[in-house]
Amino acid sequence: MRKKVIAGNWKMNKVPNEAIEFISELAPLVKDTENEVVLCVPYTDLFYSLLHAQDTNIKIGAQNMHYEEKGAYTGEVSGEMLKSIGVEYVIIGHSERRAYYGETDETVNKKLKKALSLGLKPIVCVGESLNQRESGEAKEVVTTQTRLALEGLKNDEVEKTIIAYEPIWAIGTGKTATKEDANETIKWIREEIEKIYGKDVAESVIIQYGGSVKSGNAKDLFEMSDIDGGLVGGASLDAQEFAKIVNYDK
Ligand code: PEP
Repeated sequence: MRKKVIAGNWKMNKVPNEAIEFISELAPLVKDTENEVVLCVPYTDLFYSLLHAQDTNIKIGAQNMHYEEKGAYTGEVSGEMLKSIGVEYVIIGHSERRAYYGETDETVNKKLKKALSLGLKPIVCVGESLNQRESGEAKEVVTTQTRLALEGLKNDEVEKTIIAYEPIWAIGTGKTATKEDANETIKWIREEIEKIYGKDVAESVIIQYGGSVKSGNAKDLFEMSDIDGGLVGGASLDAQEFAKIVNYDK
């Protein structure tokens, strides 16, 4: 049985005081869930969030990392740095990073290998644009992104990788993929993993859906056979709303 992982992606929102307040409000609301609760916060909130979430079931993640350990990379943060303060999760290859910061399938692969080597839990994002969906290329796009992200990984490393299927046209737009489309696309991703790494690995990989998830649609989406929770942007900024998403099964 795959666990549902429900991760908030705060993007460039909230200062430390707001992060602390948010965690105080969220913690009692989600303390009884069996789902994995993750908050991926800005770098400046990480340390405060980790301290504040210490005695809760809320896990803290970053939204990006560099694949090198250290060096002349102004403005970057390495996986080692994340690990050193106790960060557990890291988002890799979010479509906003691919679109605005030159993230490629190659850098995603390098970052993923590095994250796994450090014991960080990676959430790797894949997803097609609206044009690609409308022209029937979605399957090719998401399976290629998945294959290239995972290239060179051993079976046990693939099993530790969380994939977030996030159709770009559904991110921050209020448009959600239908539960059937989201489930079908996630099945394509799982089949691609099966082709390369075998059925056992494919069946154990956690694959989330992301794209305008909110409390009103979370249950429908997360109850589908292949959708193992979600990566949640806008709706993760409000503790009450995010708690409802986490507790979709209550
Ligand atoms: C995201 O940022 O990964 C995302 C899915 O955003 P939203 O939920 O706002 O569409």
